[in-house]
Amino acid sequence: MIAFGPVPSRRLGRSLGINNIPPKICTYSCIYCQLGRTIKMQVKRGVFYEPEEVLRDVQDKVERAKEVGESIDYLTFVPDGEPTLDVNLGREIELLRPLGIKIAVISNGSLIGREDVREDLLGADWVSLKMDSTRREIWRKIDRPHGSLQLTSILDGALEFAQAFKGELVTETMLVEGVNDGDDHIREVAGFLARLRPAIAYLAIPTRPPAEEWVQPPDEEVINRAYQIVSERVDRVEYLIGYEGNAFAFTGDAEEDLLSITSVHPMREEAVSEFLARARADWSVVHRLIAHDQLVESKYDGLTFYMRRLHPRDG
Ligand code: SF4
Repeated sequence: MIAFGPVPSRRLGRSLGINNIPPKICTYSCIYCQLGRTIKMQVKRGVFYEPEEVLRDVQDKVERAKEVGESIDYLTFVPDGEPTLDVNLGREIELLRPLGIKIAVISNGSLIGREDVREDLLGADWVSLKMDSTRREIWRKIDRPHGSLQLTSILDGALEFAQAFKGELVTETMLVEGVNDGDDHIREVAGFLARLRPAIAYLAIPTRPPAEEWVQPPDEEVINRAYQIVSERVDRVEYLIGYEGNAFAFTGDAEEDLLSITSVHPMREEAVSEFLARARADWSVVHRLIAHDQLVESKYDGLTFYMRRLHPRDG
């Protein structure tokens, strides 16, 4: 089965997934990968499925979704591996165009130094590139790239792509405790993102069992700091932390809404005050969430922020 869903996605609405790479062939073997260690490391692009087969499978799922009245916002290449390893990616995007649904690709960006890969991705409407580190030693430690990959070529390729791309470019930075979450390192990544100018820079943390057991998310204080540092250089920064609640639709329940909003970004004290006033609630809501270990108070640069507790205090 190449196509699956549609499934709800915070970033893409209702997304029909396209698995154009058999599990798990990748250019990286990230320490936090939720698919486990990479079975086959590969940097050579190849043919995995015939483009017509991909089209047929997607068409089929689109038809079925229509029959049951389900809408689809995006057709998303999100395989159990790296989608740009598929040498026919550009052709598949072309074939899918007539379906009239926007096309997204979630890539680790490792092959973006190649002109043919950039060409293929230019055909999409929305592209996500992984940006875990701009420092070679840290990149090697966290993403464990294939030995022939060069970080400089990836960074240069990403900048070149960003210049040419007419769609929406976003980045994803996975923060791992003690590996890439130091302030100086985050500052460097933020400096690069400032040049890349993504529509949104997402900060993620490992929320599902990672490939390596020792991998841990940083604590909330560190995640808030990373958020503030990147926000100084990039207009829009959001968390991607596995809570798929709809942060942009208000339920009218102050507790629920606070938890939804703070799972996307930390809230300044003043913003919480305004929110509570609008929701006709008071600070007892916040105190209750803190007492129940669902919300956490955090300081940065003399200001107080509130954010969702992402993992239990002990672990
Ligand atoms: S790039 Fe994605 S699929 Fe490949 S190892 Fe990393 S997390 Fe897993």
